[in-house]
Amino acid sequence: MEHSEIKSLLRTSLSENESRDVVVKGWVRTKRENKSIAFIALNDGSCVASIQIVAELSLPQFNDDFIKRISTGACIAVKGLLVPSMGRGQSVEIQAHEIEIYGEANTEEYPLQKKGHSLEFLREIAHLRLRTNTFGAVLRIRNAMAYALHTFYQERGFVYLHTPVITASDAEGAGEMFQVTTLDIENPPRKDGKVDYSQDFFGRSANLTVSGQLEGELGAMALGKIYTFGPTFRAENSNTPRHLAEFWMNEPEMAFYEIKDNMDLAEEFLKYLVRYALDNCREDLEFLCNMYDRELIARLESIIEATFTRLDYTAAIEILKTSGQKFEYKVEWGTDLQSEHERYLVEKHFKNPVILTDYPKKIKAFYMKQNEDGKTVRAMDVLFPSIGEIIGGSQREENYEKLLGSMHEFGIKSEDMWWYLDTRKFGTAPHSGFGLGFERLLLFITGMTNIRDVIPFPRYPQNAEF
Ligand code: ATP
Ligand code: MN
Repeated sequence: MEHSEIKSLLRTSLSENESRDVVVKGWVRTKRENKSIAFIALNDGSCVASIQIVAELSLPQFNDDFIKRISTGACIAVKGLLVPSMGRGQSVEIQAHEIEIYGEANTEEYPLQKKGHSLEFLREIAHLRLRTNTFGAVLRIRNAMAYALHTFYQERGFVYLHTPVITASDAEGAGEMFQVTTLDIENPPRKDGKVDYSQDFFGRSANLTVSGQLEGELGAMALGKIYTFGPTFRAENSNTPRHLAEFWMNEPEMAFYEIKDNMDLAEEFLKYLVRYALDNCREDLEFLCNMYDRELIARLESIIEATFTRLDYTAAIEILKTSGQKFEYKVEWGTDLQSEHERYLVEKHFKNPVILTDYPKKIKAFYMKQNEDGKTVRAMDVLFPSIGEIIGGSQREENYEKLLGSMHEFGIKSEDMWWYLDTRKFGTAPHSGFGLGFERLLLFITGMTNIRDVIPFPRYPQNAEF
C-alpha cells in the first residue's frame, strides 16, 4: 500500500464512525505511554503538525521490547486505521496495526531529545536541525518563496538567465572574493616574483561570483527582461546576523526600464512574495509567529497594505541629522547609511517601507547612471522594517563615455571590462535592475533574526562543516 502524506491526512474530515486504511512514514517526534496505550507523534516534513499514532499495548506485536525501540528521532512506517480523534488539538489520528522500524535513534546519543533547543545550539548540529519544527517551517517557506519568485517573473515574461558562478571579472567587491584555482597553493608557479596565473586553469586568476549583474545586463540587452537566481559568494569577514559568505541572490535586469519602473517592479515583487507567503504558508507562519515573533503576521500584512515611501538620500540625511537620535555611526552627507540609520527611517520616522534613491556617486558602484548634478547616481535601495536593506538596485549608466569615465574614477581597468563596455558601444539602451538577497527576504518573511537560520547549510567565517 502506498503511503500518504501526513499533511493531507490531517486535512481529511471523517464523520463519527468513518475510518480509512492508511500507511504513513516519518520520524518520531515524541512518544508518551500509559499502561495500555502508546501515543506517538509522527512527522514526515510535509507540514509542521505531527499526526498522532495510537498503539494498543495489548496487541502482541507491540510488546515492551518493541515499543521501547520507538523513541524520539526513530524512523518508522505505520499501517493502520485513520479515525476521528477524541484528543484535543487534532481531528484525526491513526490506530496502529503494524509498525515497521526503519531506523532507531539511540536515546543516549540523539541530540534532539527535548523541545526548545536554542537556535545557537541547533547551528552546531545543522545536519539534524532540519528535523526540528522550526527548520521544517523555515525551509518549507524558503521553498515556497523560491517558487513564488520564479512564478512572479515567469508570469511577466522575464527570461531566467543562468549567469556564471566562476568569473574572472573583479569589478565589484574587490577583496571580498573567493579565489578559484587549480594551482598548487603551497608552491605556485611564479614569474617576476608574482604568481603566474597564466598557468592557472583559466589562464588567468578567477573567483566565485559576487553578483550576476554584469552578465545579467548582457542578457537584458538581448532578451529584454531577464532575472538571475543563484548562489553568490562574498568573503567579507563580517560576522553579522545579516551576512553570509554564500547566499542566494535574485537579480532582475530590464531593458528600457528607468529608475521609476525599477522601483515599481521592486515594490510589486516584494508585495507579491509576502502575499504568496500569507496565502500559502499559513500554518508555518503561525507556528513561527507563536514561537518567535508575535508581530510577524501583522507585519507581513502591513507590507501588502503599504505604499512604500520614496525619497532621496539627501532628504534622508536631513531627517537623520535633525532626528535627535543617538547613532553609533555619525550621519554626514557622503557617507553610507548603516543599518541603524536605515531602520530608524523605516521603523521610527516613516513607520513604512522606504525606497531611498539618488545616493552620492562615491559610495555606490561605478555602473550606476549619473545624475545631472554630477554628485549623485540613480541608485535605489529598498529598506524594510527589522531588516534594513533588502534590495539594492539602480538605473545603469548607458552612455559609453560616462561609463568609461567612472571606471577610471573607480580605478577599474577598462581593458578587462571590454565585453561590458561593448553593450554601451553596440545598441545601448536605458536599463535598470536590482538585487534581492534571498535570505534577507526570508528573515523578513519568517521573523528569524539571524541569517544563518534561514538557509539550510550556512557558510560564514570559520564554518563550512555541514
Ligand atoms: P550590505 O550593505 O548589507 O552589505 P550590499 O550593499 O553589500 O549590502 P549589494 O551588493 O547591493 O549589497 O547586494 C544586493 C543584496 O544582496 C543586498 O540588498 C542584500 O539583500 C544582499 N546581500 C548582500 N551581501 C550579503 C551577504 N553577505 N549575505 C546575504 N545577503 C547579502
Ligand atoms: Mn556588503
